[in-house]
Amino acid sequence: MLPSKIDPVALDQHLTEAADRLGTPAYVYATDIVEARLADLRAHLGRWFAISFAVKSNPNPALLGWMRDRLDYLDISSGGELVLGRQAGWDPARISFTGPAKQEFELRDAIDCGLGELVLESLREAELADRLAAEAGRIQPVLIRIAPDRVPKGFGDQMAGRPSPFGIDVEDAAEILPRIAALPNLRIIGLHIYSGTQSLKPDAICENWRIFMQVFSQTCAALDLRPEKLIFGAGLGIPYHPGDQALDLAAIAAEIGPALDTFRADPRLAGTKLVLELGRYLVGPAGWFVTRVVSVKQSRGSRIAICDGGLNANLAASGNFGMVLRRNYVIHRIGGDEAGTRPEEKHDISGPLCTSIDKLGGGVMLPRLDEGDLIAIHACGAYGPTASPLYFISHPLPREVLLTGGQLQDATRITAR
Ligand SMILES: *Cc1c(COP(=O)(O)O)cnc(C)c1O
Repeated sequence: MLPSKIDPVALDQHLTEAADRLGTPAYVYATDIVEARLADLRAHLGRWFAISFAVKSNPNPALLGWMRDRLDYLDISSGGELVLGRQAGWDPARISFTGPAKQEFELRDAIDCGLGELVLESLREAELADRLAAEAGRIQPVLIRIAPDRVPKGFGDQMAGRPSPFGIDVEDAAEILPRIAALPNLRIIGLHIYSGTQSLKPDAICENWRIFMQVFSQTCAALDLRPEKLIFGAGLGIPYHPGDQALDLAAIAAEIGPALDTFRADPRLAGTKLVLELGRYLVGPAGWFVTRVVSVKQSRGSRIAICDGGLNANLAASGNFGMVLRRNYVIHRIGGDEAGTRPEEKHDISGPLCTSIDKLGGGVMLPRLDEGDLIAIHACGAYGPTASPLYFISHPLPREVLLTGGQLQDATRITAR
């Protein structure tokens, strides 16, 4: 069993080496931690579920390549992600494609290359895909994304239960699904739901999965469908802020296991594969964002450390990626107080941009920071560079580094300035 944490002293050595060798700002992704998290998922939930990785959470090419022989499936959300997955050596048959505004060019590429499943989000898309499949001489397997009419409280982001661009609203399914089923060049092989995410509440997650099972059972019965695949867009959250509690997968398995067993026992589901689709849960806690203090300003009673990477390189940590109130991520000074000469002080931490929203931390207690110091922000393995306005103010783009068994590998995706 791999350790789910890296010894803090060794970690700081690796982060320092990455910063010194490759420059800052930099993301370091520890594959050993991804592997440990995957093992934990399989140990607790593998009885029921295969695992699919949502590429949009971290499309780093080296990471996708590392995952190829370890994970079951990839879920992509664009034609660009299809290219990334294929370049990383993934067989298109193991890839599903979600997204509410798929366009003709990317649907054509996906169908032509032998995509595993198209996840249909509308009748428009179904009709377009049907025509493209006919042109390609293929029968394209599809899943239908359903938007349930409720999402329990306790999700940081919600994609259903109210007006939403995603999927087919469950109340419209009876009218729309038979029309999709009648399209001759598509074959409905299952259903998909992703209605909420970033939940740290086991009860909310289990309740949501119960809603999924209800919708799946009802929809399969109405369509007289024996599904090959049902995708549960997992919604598993990760701790971002000091005091957040990590999910206990054993508790989730214990709470939802009996319901999953009953669900599976339905004769209609005898040949069905259940899939958990997730992003941040797998990779978020495996990543650190490393930035160097360029300047320190003492300003009206506050000590402000101004760093070389801010919201341009890490929008999420600045609190501007779908967070209502900015809260600090967990941050540490690399090297801590190694010489015993740095009493803890409150710091505001900002990035290099000329805007007041470029703030990575407020009132953070850290060993006194000086020019040249490195800090690490935790839980940055998901929605990092990919979800940041990298070109804003034209600073150097962040480096990306894979850390595997103590070895660093430059895995920077985009190096242009
Ligand atoms: C974004 C996304 C995911 C992954 O969400 P996480 O919060 O990173 O787990 C899964 N499925 C779909 C369809 C998505 O759009």
